[in-house]
Amino acid sequence: MKSKKFLLPLIIASCFAAGVLFAEEAKKEAAESKPATCCAKAEGKGEKCGHGCCAEAAKAEKNCEKCNGSGKIEKKPEEKK
Ligand SMILES: [Zn+2]
Ligand SMILES: [Zn+2]
Repeated sequence: MKSKKFLLPLIIASCFAAGVLFAEEAKKEAAESKPATCCAKAEGKGEKCGHGCCAEAAKAEKNCEKCNGSGKIEKKPEEKK
């Protein structure tokens, strides 16, 4: 039967589409928190970003939108006591 051969790729395709939709949904949530480029660079060096705009944003627990960041600052799971 030809129809069966046609059905299987269709099922795979629909599964893939569902997966893409799910990934898209996850992406939306992930995109909400993005550190500013300068801040990420500074953090990589173990320093704090010196930008005033970033400091202002950090006070509000946000990533600096002026410097290509967005959303809230993600708190690190490890806390030093
Ligand atoms: Zn910065
Ligand atoms: Zn900034």
